[in-house]
Amino acid sequence: MTAIDIAVQSKKLGAEEVTIAYRRDKKSMGASPHEQELAHKNDISFIYNVQPQKVTTSQAGITAIEFNRTRIDSSGKLTPTDTILSLPCDVVFKAVGQHFENSSLSAEEEQPRLNQQGRIAVDDNYQTSLTGVYAGGDCINGKDLVVEAVNHGTQAALAIHQQLQQD
Ligand SMILES: Cc1cc2nc3c(=O)[nH]c(=O)nc-3n(C[C@H](O)[C@H](O)[C@H](O)COP(=O)(O)OP(=O)(O)OC[C@H]3O[C@@H](n4cnc5c(N)ncnc54)[C@H](O)[C@@H]3O)c2cc1C
Repeated sequence: MTAIDIAVQSKKLGAEEVTIAYRRDKKSMGASPHEQELAHKNDISFIYNVQPQKVTTSQAGITAIEFNRTRIDSSGKLTPTDTILSLPCDVVFKAVGQHFENSSLSAEEEQPRLNQQGRIAVDDNYQTSLTGVYAGGDCINGKDLVVEAVNHGTQAALAIHQQLQQD
């Protein structure tokens, strides 16, 4: 999804040619069919089964990116091959996935309990296992949508308000 956001916006901002390079095949892409369609409508090119190896530069800046072709080996693992593909370009964006980073929770203080996905566990009122500490958005669920985060904030605020009225 991030790659498609960047590619489409780059094109709309005037980039002449934009290519998305993906390490697996088309059917493995995480971006939704709607987003992929959006990319095709905006004349974005796709290269599948490649992984970045090297960015080539000159004094003027980036001149190309080199990829290794990839294949799935017999154990089902994605493996780079010796076949190199070079794509001339002047700008490269890295669009990697993101995950919940819990290292900032590892301080000396008491920690909130985590859920099965390794994110912060909350009850129906968005309260964590720590009394009076609420959480919402990407750090608690797996949908990672703005509308969800806003809804969690609203629900948590209502629960906090109710709790304060009882106290
Ligand atoms: C490229 C991209 C495109 C996206 N496109 C869409 C889209 O089209 N539609 C959609 O619905 N969603 C989209 N999302 C997902 C959406 O951005 C998130 O679901 C949403 O921002 C989650 O809100 P949040 O408040 O939970 O977390 P965030 O918006 O990530 O806010 C968390 C904040 O906490 C701060 N923070 C983190 N750790 C600490 C710490 N230890 N101390 C203090 N502050 C800290 C961070 O700096 C950040 O400001 C996209 C995400 C990305 C990355």
